[in-house]
Amino acid sequence: MRDNWPEVVEAARVARELGVDNFRISAIFQPDNERYFAGWYEQAQALCRKAEEQATEDFRVFNLFGERLEDLRRQQPDYAFCGYQHFTTYIGADLNVYRCCNTAYNTRGRIGSIRQCRFRDLWRSAAKEADFTSFDARACRRCQFNRKNRMVLYAIAREPADVAFV
Ligand code: SF4
Repeated sequence: MRDNWPEVVEAARVARELGVDNFRISAIFQPDNERYFAGWYEQAQALCRKAEEQATEDFRVFNLFGERLEDLRRQQPDYAFCGYQHFTTYIGADLNVYRCCNTAYNTRGRIGSIRQCRFRDLWRSAAKEADFTSFDARACRRCQFNRKNRMVLYAIAREPADVAFV
């Protein structure tokens, strides 16, 4: 983000020296999309690449800065099926269950509540199935999981042997 990108190389170095396993660099999702990065994007991208040089055999650096920018540029997904919501879920402090971090605390992302029932019962309910079936990803304002969703779409269009891989 605007306030911390100059420190990304130092942050990676500190993480490596602390002995952590991996370090992921991303770009903040916010309402101004790629406009937010105007004027400092190239410099930040160069530093993120430099941070990759901190990687060692025991310390991996995942630089997703450019990929996230591309997600912000694209804005709405151009596919209807969101596979990601089938693999991950977010339970909020408000006891609502959401599709993904991007739609957490948002009526669009809300699957249901576990205030009055167990998670398992909500997850296996007819209402949740109907909600997933009718969900159209194209109405999401932006998605940081485009690559994963495209991979899921690619896989489910293949022969069963390939689907098992997913
Ligand atoms: S933002 Fe992406 S992952 Fe989240 S619900 Fe929409 S399409 Fe699915």
